[in-house]
Amino acid sequence: MILLATGVGEGLCSHLREKTALGKVGFRPMKQNLNKPKFSDAAHYLSRDHHNFSFSSAHAPNLTVTPGELIHVQTWDCYMGAITNPENALLPIPEEAINGATGPIYVVGAEPGDTLSVTIHDIKPGPRGVARTYPGSGQLQHLVHEPFAQFFDVKDGLITMNEKVSFPSSPMLGVIGVAPASGDIATMPAGKHGGNLDNNLNGIGATVHLPVKHPGALLALGDMHASMGDGEICGTGIEIGGDVLISVQLIKGTTTDYPVTETEDVWVTHGVSDVEDIPGALRIACEEAAKLLVHHWGFTFEEAFIFLSVQGNLGLAQAVHPGQGTVIAKMVVPKLAACPKPFNVI
Ligand code: CA
Ligand code: ZN
Repeated sequence: MILLATGVGEGLCSHLREKTALGKVGFRPMKQNLNKPKFSDAAHYLSRDHHNFSFSSAHAPNLTVTPGELIHVQTWDCYMGAITNPENALLPIPEEAINGATGPIYVVGAEPGDTLSVTIHDIKPGPRGVARTYPGSGQLQHLVHEPFAQFFDVKDGLITMNEKVSFPSSPMLGVIGVAPASGDIATMPAGKHGGNLDNNLNGIGATVHLPVKHPGALLALGDMHASMGDGEICGTGIEIGGDVLISVQLIKGTTTDYPVTETEDVWVTHGVSDVEDIPGALRIACEEAAKLLVHHWGFTFEEAFIFLSVQGNLGLAQAVHPGQGTVIAKMVVPKLAACPKPFNVI
């Protein structure tokens, strides 16, 4: 119950807070996006034929890029295109065949100890997505006796569920990550390397800051959703394939333990733990935010703790609970003059 209440009104409040902090008067005009990068400007294209089901430094790069270049990446839906119509909609799909991530992309100049900042300029989902429920998954699994699939049509930014229900699309990437410090981590869980973060703020305009552990970083992304709510409570978003336009930058010699997402109004730390350990995930997300406030913005620990309590919004990015894998918490921090971005670096 606590968790359900935390995200209410978050967008509006952070908007007002920033205006107050920066002393702006009146409403911020709508973004014109005149300089928004276009897919046609991309210097590179990587098709979804180039994918892996794990993050590992052992995977050979499928593309090499330089910071600043525009990269067009095609991604699969989490089912790798296997669910297309009512006839195959309930097909059981083994976990090892889910969440293929397009990549790896080698970033020239990325070294361990750096941060790889991935800006998502645009996401274009395909025309049709699917969500599924099945026994053994999600918050209401005790009520689920048979698998069920719901298709969604996506057209001109609008998602149609059925004759009654339609809503704007808010596309995002479920999976985004780099090669982990050691070993081979499947694309199903999340972790310090990113992976299946399932943060619905990882959408158009967001920058995801990832801790580099190997030369070149070895970025991969996938598991596009046309829409996903906080928690992803049934175990799926609107799973859909599509096209993503990104660019990357490096922050040299500065990093975090877990990924950090940045949007126009907020920055967001993540905490990941075993699926049974929601308190642990929440605690890590808070610790990550406090560390940034103390180390980059000169807050004392006490100031950070209290500031996060009175202005931060703690919640769950993904809680397919009870279920398998990881649970992911997020601490959403408003961009005030005192902490206008996650890292106090140029
Ligand atoms: Ca996911
Ligand atoms: Zn997904």
